[in-house]
Amino acid sequence: MAVQKSRKYAFVDQLHCVACGCCIKVCPKGAISVPRGIHAVVNTAACIGCGLCAKVCPASVITVRAVEKEVEPGES
Ligand code: SF4
Ligand code: SF4
Repeated sequence: MAVQKSRKYAFVDQLHCVACGCCIKVCPKGAISVPRGIHAVVNTAACIGCGLCAKVCPASVITVRAVEKEVEPGES
């Protein structure tokens, strides 16, 4: 039977990201990148929701949110 599991990851307000790259330098998982220098993108599968990127973002466009996910037994 599936159970609800909460996990956290970072969301970027891409409209207001200034593509400075500060978040990339602090991410312990390599989960955030700025493809083609346009705006930051989070790899939600790799992100652990630590919030380090949000702390250093000069534009304050990153928030860490909890997301409910249905998980089948044996899945994480
Ligand atoms: S919340 Fe942590 S793991 Fe996720 S992108 Fe930001 S620095 Fe990386
Ligand atoms: S630190 Fe903030 S403004 Fe800079 S690239 Fe990352 S999300 Fe965009």
